[in-house]
Amino acid sequence: ALRSVLRTKVHPKTGRLCYSSSSVSTVKLFIDGKFVESKSSEWLDIHNPATNEVIARVPKATQEEMLAAVDSCSRAFRSWSETSILSRQQIFLRYQQLIKDNIKELAKSITLEQGKTLADAEGDVFRGLQVVEHACSITSLMLGETLPSITKDMDTYTYRLPIGVCAGIAPFNFPAMIPLWMFPMGMVCGNTYLLKPSERVPTCAMLLAKMLQDAGAPDGTLNVIHGQHAAVNFICDHPAIKAISFVGSNQAGEYIYERGSKNGKRVQSNMGAKNHGVVMPDANKENTLNQLVGAAFGAAGQRCMALSTAILVGEARRWLPELVERAKALRVNAGDQPGADVGPLISPQARDRVCSLIQSGVDEGAQLLLDGRNVKVKGYENGNFVGPTIIGNVTPRMKCYKEEIFGPVLIVLEADSLDDAIRLVNNNPYGNGTAIFTTNGAAARKYTHEVDVGQIGVNVPIPVPLPMFSFTGSRGSFRGDTNFYGKQVRPVLHIFCASVWVSTASENSPIT
Ligand code: NAD
Repeated sequence: ALRSVLRTKVHPKTGRLCYSSSSVSTVKLFIDGKFVESKSSEWLDIHNPATNEVIARVPKATQEEMLAAVDSCSRAFRSWSETSILSRQQIFLRYQQLIKDNIKELAKSITLEQGKTLADAEGDVFRGLQVVEHACSITSLMLGETLPSITKDMDTYTYRLPIGVCAGIAPFNFPAMIPLWMFPMGMVCGNTYLLKPSERVPTCAMLLAKMLQDAGAPDGTLNVIHGQHAAVNFICDHPAIKAISFVGSNQAGEYIYERGSKNGKRVQSNMGAKNHGVVMPDANKENTLNQLVGAAFGAAGQRCMALSTAILVGEARRWLPELVERAKALRVNAGDQPGADVGPLISPQARDRVCSLIQSGVDEGAQLLLDGRNVKVKGYENGNFVGPTIIGNVTPRMKCYKEEIFGPVLIVLEADSLDDAIRLVNNNPYGNGTAIFTTNGAAARKYTHEVDVGQIGVNVPIPVPLPMFSFTGSRGSFRGDTNFYGKQVRPVLHIFCASVWVSTASENSPIT
């Protein structure tokens, strides 16, 4: 069943615009305000991860199409950057309402292409929507500064000005949230935007582009191209593009950071992770085990902020059998099926890679406490499913510890003290997120002050900041000097910056 990316109708009762994705076979490009069929001879199949059926085809945009898209952005910049800030704000106010009205339709398109459960997909849209809402406060965010009388008869003013055409390169795991991290903030400031969604999940981005057009964004202010390496190289090299936002793997992110920076662009790369959850023996057991299970296996572990590594300190190691029981209780199923907790992985290759990393742990002496590799999902026998898996007795030299697994796999290490746990976390090259579970204020404070990770949760397993702050992944998880979407936390030599979430609630659910 091949289906379209774009169809709108007015709801008969509410009069609101509704969006659906149905019945044409190809994903369009969005160039200069038009959804156009690519003339490319190279197309990629998009699969439903729960069945592996081909559900649509996406083009690798041709050089002419990519040039047309960036030229359109450049032309539009002249008038868009001069458009009043109140007009730009109004467009994004209408946009946030359109997204809100269509969360379910957007979520359906995400589940179909990406595989995550409908609840996770709605969370994906919701977290992106929050950035659009934040963009609506641009009239305050763009205020400049003044300092009168810096010397006799002289004052200083600073303005915040748009820089030109910006580009975004997005990953597959958050088809709504991550594109929405990118173009709304860029555009509301007066920049124009070239977006390249993940070629594996492009439909949601196309629906979002259509909604932005319907909200009143002028032609050319947002262009969308599709493709893989050639499109990425085009973005890194084209002189009209002044800044690049990338989210995805280290392999691609480090390459894009280097190539884009060499060409004089401002580049921010949010990359891979290995997030540790430190469990102290004084933690609230019930809450901690629930949090761990949700944060390790939710979205099938395909979150850059998944809590994929547990460090059980001292007596907390006794909780392991109970953790295994809770993970066993999760229901693996297609994301659109009622009651599904864990959906499929994005591709058969991703499934095979996850399975081989599990096997590497076994081969290197770890203990497989729960093995999800042979999970069978009735009615979805061809899907890319791996059930919740827990590997105990893991040590830092093992491959399953060193690599980001990006699947529903929790690896478990043990430590004798909080100091040992902190050493483990700080010796890991990644610095995206971490959490400590404890009821001891001194332990929480020590952890948040000594651990070298950009986003820290205290009894909060997935500490993704709200958009008025920014996403502050650090060390091996980030390249660049400005973080995404919010207030800038610039890392200054020897001054450690981190976003810290603290929860005192006994019940708490993962945020994305
Ligand atoms: P990916 O790197 O494979 O793809 C991301 C984008 O880069 C896609 O648009 C793709 O077309 C392009 N790309 C892929 N390989 C490339 C290459 N070799 N050269 C140039 N471009 C290339 O990432 P993914 O598999 O889509 O996403 C999963 C990864 O993203 C995980 O590592 C995850 O941790 C990371 N991620 C990080 C964050 C964060 O904020 N730190 C958020 C979400 C995902």
